[in-house]
Amino acid sequence: MKSVAEENFPAEKMENAYVFVDESDVHHKGLFAKKDIPKGTQMVEYIGPLVPKKEGNRLSKDGNVYVFSLDRKYDIDGSVPWNLARYANHSCRPNTESVGRDNQIWLEAMRDIKEGEEITYDYCYGVSEYKDNPCECGHENCFGYIVSQKHIHKVKKNESDENTG
Ligand SMILES: [Zn+2]
Repeated sequence: MKSVAEENFPAEKMENAYVFVDESDVHHKGLFAKKDIPKGTQMVEYIGPLVPKKEGNRLSKDGNVYVFSLDRKYDIDGSVPWNLARYANHSCRPNTESVGRDNQIWLEAMRDIKEGEEITYDYCYGVSEYKDNPCECGHENCFGYIVSQKHIHKVKKNESDENTG
């Protein structure tokens, strides 16, 4: 039988049916495919306590890099040990995307993924503090910073403004 404490506090998770944690070339640890995974597969849910935006912002400022924006009102504090998805690294050429659905965030395969491949997605960080977040994904087209693909053109524009101004 499980103790009350165990029930209230789920165990640390290091794998599920699709992915497992291992050493990564990108950043310390990463998530890897356990088997060939078809495009569109929901591989792992990004879980953690829901916190109001204000609390989420405070946690982020304090250095919690696992705060994930769920919607306009709530963030997910994904720093908890049972959030397997927190091990997935950012890449400038990701094979996975984070998809919001019915108040859940899932990491979903953007294309067919081969067994053993590292699972990476776009962290969708904003532009404001991009210089604090260098990217080490190692891709030949690495942008150099962890910035949402959507915002890269803005950063490029800022940089060229800085250089000419
Ligand atoms: Zn990169």
